[in-house]
Amino acid sequence: MNIVIFGPPGAGKGTQSNFIVKKYNLFQLSTGEFLRDEIRKKTELGSRISSIMNAGTLVADDIVSKLIENVITQDKYKNRIIFDGYPRNLIQAKNLDYLLKKNNQKIDLALKLSVSLETIKKRISGRSVCSICGKIYNDYFKPAPIESNCCAPKYLQKRGDDNLKVATKRFETYEKSTEPLIEFYKKLNLLKVVNGESKIDHIYKEISDIISLIEG
Ligand code: AMP
Repeated sequence: MNIVIFGPPGAGKGTQSNFIVKKYNLFQLSTGEFLRDEIRKKTELGSRISSIMNAGTLVADDIVSKLIENVITQDKYKNRIIFDGYPRNLIQAKNLDYLLKKNNQKIDLALKLSVSLETIKKRISGRSVCSICGKIYNDYFKPAPIESNCCAPKYLQKRGDDNLKVATKRFETYEKSTEPLIEFYKKLNLLKVVNGESKIDHIYKEISDIISLIEG
C-alpha cells in the first residue's frame, strides 16, 4: 500500500506518518527530511535549499523528484511508502503518478490533514526537536522534560523555518500550490480528509480506521 499524506505546515504529517509507518511496516518518505539532510551535509546544494526553505517557498520540482524516484525504484520499498510532504503541487502529483506507474505501483490513499492557521502558528512557533533521539516537542501542547539524558531543553533544536513569519509564508504557499491536490485526489476517488485539530491519538485512530478499511 502506498499513501500520500498532505496538509498545511504543522498539520502533523510527520507525527502521524511516524505512527502509521510503525503499525503498517511502511517506509516514510519525507521530502522535508531528505532536504534537511542535504542542508546538514553543508553542500552547495544544501545551502541553496536552506535559503528556499527559510523563505517559506518550495524547492524546485526536479530536485525533489530525484529524491523520490531514488526510493520508488528500490524493490525493498515497493508498495510500502508513505509520501510525507510530496506531492506539494499539481506538477509533482502528476509526476508521482507517472513514476509509480512506471514502477508498477499506484497510490491507494491520499490523506489530507485539515488545520486552521491559528493552530498552525502555535504548533510551529512552539515546536522543537530533540537533537539526540528526534522526538518532537511543543512549548504549548507537549513540553519537553526539564531533566533527562535525552530531550532536556539543552538538547532541543528549532528548525530554521519554524518561526511565525516563515510559517505564515509556508501557509500561503500551501494554499496556493498544494490545496489544488484536494480536487486532484477527489477526482481519483483517493481522498480522505481528517480533522487535524483533534488530539494526536484521536487523529491516529481515525487514520488507522481508514487504512484498515482499504486493507480490507
Ligand atoms: P516539511 O518538512 O514537509 O514541512 O518541508 C519543509 C520545507 O521543505 C518546505 O517548506 C519546502 O521548502 C521544502 N519541501 C519539502 N517537501 C517539498 C516538496 N515536495 N517540494 C518542494 N519543496 C519541498
